[in-house]
Amino acid sequence: MRILVVGGGGREHALVWKIAQSPLAGKVFCAPGNPGTARLAENVAIPADDVDALSRWAVENRIDLVVVGPEGPLVLGLADRISAAGIPAFGPSAAAAQLEGSKAFAKEVMRAASIPTADHATFDALGPALARARAAHGRVVVKADGLAAGKGVVVCGNLAEAEEALRAILVDRVHGEAGARVLVEERLEGPEVSVIALVDGERVLVLPPAQDHKRIFDGDRGPNTGGMGAFTPTPTVDGALLEDVRDRVLLPTVREMKRRGTPFRGALYAGIMLTRDGPKVLEFNARFGDPETQPILMRMAGDLLPALLGAAQGDLSPVRLEIDPRPAVGVVMAAEGYPGRVTTGDAIDGAEGPFPPGAQIFVAGARRAADGRLVTSGGRVLTVCALGADRADAAARAYETVARVRFRGAQYRRDIGRTGPGEAT
Ligand code: AMP
Repeated sequence: MRILVVGGGGREHALVWKIAQSPLAGKVFCAPGNPGTARLAENVAIPADDVDALSRWAVENRIDLVVVGPEGPLVLGLADRISAAGIPAFGPSAAAAQLEGSKAFAKEVMRAASIPTADHATFDALGPALARARAAHGRVVVKADGLAAGKGVVVCGNLAEAEEALRAILVDRVHGEAGARVLVEERLEGPEVSVIALVDGERVLVLPPAQDHKRIFDGDRGPNTGGMGAFTPTPTVDGALLEDVRDRVLLPTVREMKRRGTPFRGALYAGIMLTRDGPKVLEFNARFGDPETQPILMRMAGDLLPALLGAAQGDLSPVRLEIDPRPAVGVVMAAEGYPGRVTTGDAIDGAEGPFPPGAQIFVAGARRAADGRLVTSGGRVLTVCALGADRADAAARAYETVARVRFRGAQYRRDIGRTGPGEAT
């Protein structure tokens, strides 16, 4: 099979790494890819959101399966265009990707399917939104409706914070038209978990649950980022709870999308908070999470390709996933200044192996300089992953590998996989 993976981050490097191991894989391409994918696949110099150029290229190059990593091209209709050209696409249609593209739409689907989630109301004017926040004494979560690169959510502790967030999003339009509508949500409490499932429009195959760490500093402090690390499995989710999430969240969502005539195919990601009243949905993503995908794919013992193809073609029924029982930990190494303005162009040493047993590095914000060296080119530079006998061992192996990597100003958390929510620090 000739396979095209769309995207250029650590998630896409992990997908290419896993897909390239499949006995069914012939040639693997990645657009635009990065220096990590270039070692395993042929990079194609087309940006991930150039839907026209990507669909044309896939047809001209007789691609058999397109796997879409990021949400941007999905919301722009890349999967629709690829499927219309007769090529199976892993990733939802633009209509189904609205589960991520519009938080108001996601809430509407959850309401229709009776899926547990935070109470909320949607506003397009400041006055009524403020009144709602005031009624909750400012203990609300303010969310831009549309895609805001993971930055459209503000968890507020008082009315002043809520007012500032509402003004920034609705009035100053800091996220552009993504903030033409806002959601004001009840603020929930509890540990968070990411549950990702492969979906074929009807059936779901649930992947091992993961815990990610969004804050920049140890102990979950400091500003939010795209994610500083993740591990799987998570001690907060046992088999019964995972079944509960499947039966009360994932399957009802998939059924409701099918009922609406916009079936969901691809990776459905539910961000869940484990509240005292049971699991509640914080958000849906219409794709694999980054960095959760990196440690999750480390644990995928068998072939991933039949599952991706089954989801794309609408039949996952013959597919079984083989999961390595060993835990995996992924530590993100970020550039100086992240999540703010970052410095780039710093040489990276030690990131291209050989790696200790069970360890693997996935490349994200890095490029190959003219002299052949790997240099930083973005905020999140690498995800350093390892499998271990238990989570502490996996973390130890990941950090042993982190210690071999050097670039100026590297920042990373020291606590990924070392303590979990509800565990003693
Ligand atoms: P989201 O992009 O909607 O997942 O929001 C990003 C982060 O904001 C989540 O990972 C949570 O930490 C937090 N968050 C979102 N919604 C809520 C909520 N209703 N209550 C408490 N925290 C929330």
